[in-house]
Amino acid sequence: MSADCLFCRVVAKRIPARIVLETDAVLAFHDINPQAPTHVLVIPKEHFRAIGDVDPVTAGQILATAHEVAKYEGIDESGYRLVFNTNEDGGQTVYHVHCHVLGGRHMTWPPG
Ligand code: IMP
Repeated sequence: MSADCLFCRVVAKRIPARIVLETDAVLAFHDINPQAPTHVLVIPKEHFRAIGDVDPVTAGQILATAHEVAKYEGIDESGYRLVFNTNEDGGQTVYHVHCHVLGGRHMTWPPG
């Protein structure tokens, strides 16, 4: 736990969240400012700053949970997008690694 980390406070249930799935290792909850009809964030409960800091086992848990979220939200067949915004140019604003699960509409490319 990092004392000044927003998502560590979500993990600790000090900030309310609309939780979709939870395991011992990861938490999935709705983004507060959704960019698609489905917009869920999957985070490890342990604090890692960005994807480059995450061990392979935890990275696998994040990805497997992201797909479970897609199934739970009913977008696994229609399609969805997973995004790890990383560092400044990647558009990362919260420095506790998170995977965006976006779906429920057709995604365009390239992203902004
Ligand atoms: P980033 O820009 O990739 O770091 O994404 C951070 C995401 O966290 C944004 O999509 C925000 O809308 C979202 N967010 C910020 N604060 C909260 C919160 O308290 N609950 C849920 N989502 C949040």
